[in-house]
Amino acid sequence: MTLNLTRIQPLDDDSISAAVTLWQQGHLVAFGTETVYGLGADAGNALAVTHIFKTKNRPEFNPLISHLPDQDSAFGLAMRTTLAEQLAEAFWPGPMTLVLNRQDHGQIADLVTAGLDSLALRVPGHAGARELLKAVGTPIAAPSANSSGRLSPTTADHVADSFHHHSEPRLIIDTGPCQKGLESTIIDARGEAPILLRPGSVTADMIKDVTGYLPLLPEHKNPPQLLSPGQLASHYAPRAQLRLNATTIHEGEAWLGFGTDPILPPDTPAANLSPDGNLDEAASQFFSLLHQLDATGVKTIAVAAIPETGLGVAIHDRLCRAAAPRP
Ligand code: AMP
Ligand code: MG
Repeated sequence: MTLNLTRIQPLDDDSISAAVTLWQQGHLVAFGTETVYGLGADAGNALAVTHIFKTKNRPEFNPLISHLPDQDSAFGLAMRTTLAEQLAEAFWPGPMTLVLNRQDHGQIADLVTAGLDSLALRVPGHAGARELLKAVGTPIAAPSANSSGRLSPTTADHVADSFHHHSEPRLIIDTGPCQKGLESTIIDARGEAPILLRPGSVTADMIKDVTGYLPLLPEHKNPPQLLSPGQLASHYAPRAQLRLNATTIHEGEAWLGFGTDPILPPDTPAANLSPDGNLDEAASQFFSLLHQLDATGVKTIAVAAIPETGLGVAIHDRLCRAAAPRP
């Protein structure tokens, strides 16, 4: 589908209510913040979140930042720490993302956290963005609104250029050029001392002034790698071993199917990513079902072959990482 230019609308009562309706229907809406334009989906709707990966053509399922209108709604989803409270008081609303332990009750789909027990949260500084978030009343998962590998968008036109051949986002809310134009600083605030996961306009010195700690850097040799999403060490890996491209099941294994299942012995722990062979559905179920099978305590999960097209590429990427020998 080609871009209809009326997809870009200024922020006003009409566009806010259109955005809320589209989000509730599982569509994407792009909106400006003080950092960059975000490509937002209802964070509780896994299928809507798959549209983010598909539209950006993102080859991996990296965890996404969830956006909230205020501190209280952010802390309602995660475990507070003293450190997080100090940082939130100083830098929220603003260009800072906190990684905390999840304590949501299904408001966040597992695909948003890429199966991790942690959650990345931000209260944007841009008043218009907060107005939208308040109106929708659910956390909005949003990475930068650009195709993977393209420059981060700092105007509504950048977003439109990036997605002119796509049917999503259905609406781009023009909140003007972004003031910072740099992605948010990401801080892991789960412990006593802050860990800087991604540098941004909230600097290490600013963090030290507020917390007394100069933030630690995660162990890495090559800073640009740190900036590339998906390189963080904290990726979800199941306890069980994975056996990929399985066509039959071996004794004692669990089964993760795609499309029609083979005949399985009774009492086999089993789940199916998409009985109809739909990759969007499979992507939206992937982390939740893997968690579910892993929780049965089996040693091995046999996983049916998944076609390596569209979102199947991202599913494959995750399966291969999860199946790789552990250090
Ligand atoms: P982007 O959406 O491209 O701005 O990137 C979001 C980045 O936030 C990811 O690539 C991760 O580096 C980081 N992130 C998001 N969620 C988590 C999490 N639960 N734990 C650690 N890092 C996270
Ligand atoms: Mg980005």
